[in-house]
Amino acid sequence: MGELVDLHGRRILYLRVSVTNNCNLKCAYCAGGTIAHTYGNRENHLSSNELIRVIKCAAKLGIKGVRITGGEPLMRDDIVDLVNGIAALSELNDISMTTNGMLLSHHADALCRAGLKRINISLDSLIERKLEALNGASSLRILEGIEAALNAGFECVKLNCVVMRGFNLDEVIKLASLSIDRPLHVRFIELQPVGCERNFFLQQFISAAQVLQIIKGEFELEPIERADEPPGLGPARYFRIKGALGTVGFIAPVSEPFCISCNRLRLTYDGILRACLAYNIGVDMKRALKGGDEMVEEAFRRAAMLKPLGHNYACIAEGTYECPFGNMTMKEIGG
Ligand code: SAM
Repeated sequence: MGELVDLHGRRILYLRVSVTNNCNLKCAYCAGGTIAHTYGNRENHLSSNELIRVIKCAAKLGIKGVRITGGEPLMRDDIVDLVNGIAALSELNDISMTTNGMLLSHHADALCRAGLKRINISLDSLIERKLEALNGASSLRILEGIEAALNAGFECVKLNCVVMRGFNLDEVIKLASLSIDRPLHVRFIELQPVGCERNFFLQQFISAAQVLQIIKGEFELEPIERADEPPGLGPARYFRIKGALGTVGFIAPVSEPFCISCNRLRLTYDGILRACLAYNIGVDMKRALKGGDEMVEEAFRRAAMLKPLGHNYACIAEGTYECPFGNMTMKEIGG
């Protein structure tokens, strides 16, 4: 069985699977700032069996890692069974999840027992009233979720923080210091112009390099050898605050694009296998699922061939940027 390689010679090793577009939060930068708590209908969602079948075919084509995302994956009531089914696929090395953490304290043990290896938890602020205003989250509940994840015994617990100039830039030192006493990997992610309005993006964007400078002003940061980095198939650059148990990471898709080493495809909750986060191009996997596994595998090959060389975020500064994904938000695509 041939591996998946795109037209630019990039090997596809990583599948991000959005299991729902439902979310219990309404982040301004993710859901366009317009969507209230959504508990949409689930009729158009891929079923657990369909998801497992797609992932099994992906594994046959050389996909090594799967990340479950959404929407909020813990909003799916069959999530533990789904993880169980995916974890049973012996060809996969890695299964991880990204969650907003709000429901995690109830699920962490069961997810870990079901075979989830790693978990990323979004935490944009430690200040209750700020989070409440941003997306309706509670930092206390997320911190409980983080604690539950640490106790459950996952291989690795990472925190995702999207840094925004006018919202949480003043908290990056406090957030980075969460990596000191606990084995937490705190990642600072650049805001992307996906699912947020152009003006919001231009006002709030701050580069990962600037955030790194702020953190370096407070702590002595040691670079980390590749082999010692927290496990993952993503593009983060990691450092360790001297003496810390965890690490701090920086992800710079806008200021330092890493498209040249992109190794991923994305399956949306309703069965589109997307070639790229930044372009609305993909293959109808739901249709492929009506046929045999060879149709599913063919859909993977076609999606790989559609991968563009890179995103076009640079145009946003020039004012020529047209959102190429219509109304699709990160929450719809699966961030
Ligand atoms: N509900 C889960 C969560 O909140 O982690 C998973 C889905 S969410 C879309 C996945 C990640 O995408 C989160 O870490 C979120 O902060 C990030 N994200 C959403 N919109 C973004 C944007 N415009 N730029 C950068 N990151 C974004």
